[in-house]
Amino acid sequence: MTQPIGELNPPVRLMLTPGPSSIDPRVYRAMATPLVGHMDPWFKGCMEETQILMRQIFQTENRVTMPLSASGSGGIEASVLNSLEEGDEGIVAVNGVFSERMYEIGIRASSKVIKVEAPYGKPVDPEDVRRAAKGKKIKIIGLAHGETSTGVFTGIEAYRKLADEVGALLVVDTVASLAAVPLHVDRERIDICFSGSQKAISAPPGMSPITVSPAAEEVFRKRKTKVQSWYFDLTTAMNYWGKDRLYHHTPPISLIFALREAMRLVLEEGLEARWERHRTNQLALIAGLEAMGLDLLVTNPADRLPTVTAVMIPGGVDDAKVRNQLLDEFNIEIAGGFGAVKGKIWRVGLMGYCSQKANVLLFLAAFEKVLLDQGFRVPSGAGVGAAIRSYSQVETAAAVSR
Ligand SMILES: *Cc1c(COP(=O)(O)O)cnc(C)c1O
Repeated sequence: MTQPIGELNPPVRLMLTPGPSSIDPRVYRAMATPLVGHMDPWFKGCMEETQILMRQIFQTENRVTMPLSASGSGGIEASVLNSLEEGDEGIVAVNGVFSERMYEIGIRASSKVIKVEAPYGKPVDPEDVRRAAKGKKIKIIGLAHGETSTGVFTGIEAYRKLADEVGALLVVDTVASLAAVPLHVDRERIDICFSGSQKAISAPPGMSPITVSPAAEEVFRKRKTKVQSWYFDLTTAMNYWGKDRLYHHTPPISLIFALREAMRLVLEEGLEARWERHRTNQLALIAGLEAMGLDLLVTNPADRLPTVTAVMIPGGVDDAKVRNQLLDEFNIEIAGGFGAVKGKIWRVGLMGYCSQKANVLLFLAAFEKVLLDQGFRVPSGAGVGAAIRSYSQVETAAAVSR
């Protein structure tokens, strides 16, 4: 006889990673409420509310706004497959693993997508994209607003200008930035914008909020061929999320409950206050890390993504040992690097519910202890001290402006 398998009892971790983030208890409660059918009239009202909340967070009036039943990568897949047909030309600004994924999906769709690259730790220069677009019929320009693999932020304005010049749709991956970094889909005229439920929105993983402009809808309508993916065909998916409410596939109803509650929390706090919270906490984290003698991958402060901070691993320090000790001794999870920066950086996430002063101070204290144990000398208390000073500067400035 094999041993009976025990009741599920996961450890309680603080997930200071680039996703998933830890979750507010209200979101767990919403997820545990009784299931209703996906065609139930009551659920239709709940779907409508979910879409209303989502439009407010994206800051858009786009009709096509819904959660895809997929993780963030499903959002990339849907955006690319719906907008490109075989042989169509497009450009993706690639500066890390996730923007590379958008390019890869374009190639698999047999379109002629080209990538314009930047070194890891920097945004792609829009001028390089402009040069690459010369003489081509570019249908989409894609980029990651926040490139999570390196912690790089890319501003949208220059890309919108470019997309206007070449007549392309602008496709923006906001998986790591929505609800943490200023974003106005309508004002910035993003044609297709998608995100993930488990990052700064702080719902469980498994849903990808997406919004599509009327201009992009028009491009979808003019397709000569069907979208290769039945599941991610946005026009048929909208028959369910639109006014007809026709069955398409059974959505993850409990996840929609959770996402709805997480979005309510975002709007209760207010988008502006939430953006400011992410900025303030990252500034304190960075002040602490620098005071500990650590370097950051992203050297230009304007290029830093507020949700993910990439820290250079000092020479002689073992990447995995540090991460394992943080987990074993403090129940804190941080991430390593992947792709070209594997073994070179740690990535500390401060996303959504995790972006809190208490977490920043706890992490810096724990990190000092672990680094000392692993042979890296840190001036005693330097990280926490610098973070506290960073917070008090922000508080003083706020008091003055009041
Ligand atoms: C996490 C992430 C993704 C992928 O999301 P999954 O939920 O892991 O599929 C895509 N793009 C960016 C910018 C991300 O941070």
